[in-house]
Amino acid sequence: MTKKCWKKAALALTAAAAAYSYVPSQAGKLQQRNRRKKAYGAGSYGLNKGQEKVLYLTFDDGPHPVYTEKLLDLLKQYEIKATFFVVGAFAAEYPHLVLRMEQEGHTIGLHSLQHKSAMIQTPSYTRWDFAKSLEIMEDLGIAVQYYRPPWGHVNWFTLWQMNAYGLKKVLWDVMAEDWKEDTDIEKMQYILLKKAENGSIICLHDGRGDGPVQKEAPLRMIKTLEQTIPVWIEDGYQFKTIAEMERR
Ligand SMILES: [Zn+2]
Repeated sequence: MTKKCWKKAALALTAAAAAYSYVPSQAGKLQQRNRRKKAYGAGSYGLNKGQEKVLYLTFDDGPHPVYTEKLLDLLKQYEIKATFFVVGAFAAEYPHLVLRMEQEGHTIGLHSLQHKSAMIQTPSYTRWDFAKSLEIMEDLGIAVQYYRPPWGHVNWFTLWQMNAYGLKKVLWDVMAEDWKEDTDIEKMQYILLKKAENGSIICLHDGRGDGPVQKEAPLRMIKTLEQTIPVWIEDGYQFKTIAEMERR
């Protein structure tokens, strides 16, 4: 192949990759921003004066035998209902935690089978991912209605599978970056209090925190919540699940 041909081939490949996953992923994020604006208005404080103030706490990447247990205890203490986007393989490993979530009134959504990005997944893997993880949830007696793709990445087959199983995609408005190595409780609390406003879907992580980079990040996240929840309550916020949001 000539140099020109290689260049053309590379361009075609990049375009194909963008069309396969990048474009639908970005479109999903844009859709999420518009949804929030439409539902609550930009700068919701003013527009929703006098109305109830609601936050939606969501937790990804679990269940984890240590962190999820601690988090569920904290939520119980404040009688807060939240939404967990569980990884199918971990749900199979720790079914008692998924059942506890269900018993305590939380909404359980799916966060893929093995937490792999849809950007690099083939159609057949994507199909297997959904079938297998939904089978795990069904065995646990959980009827899943919501799906949060890892990193918000989807490809056309993810969208197809979601549609086939009747799953609604749920992204987020506020990311506290709780997994970052260089963050701490003060920094995360600052982000949460500054960015969360009426109707925000807040994304936090209760699982996959054992790696050398994360260094028990979920424990740090739980400590941040211990300090931040009382501030939100004082500020008049209620906490609801994604299922309750859908019923609004
Ligand atoms: Zn995740």
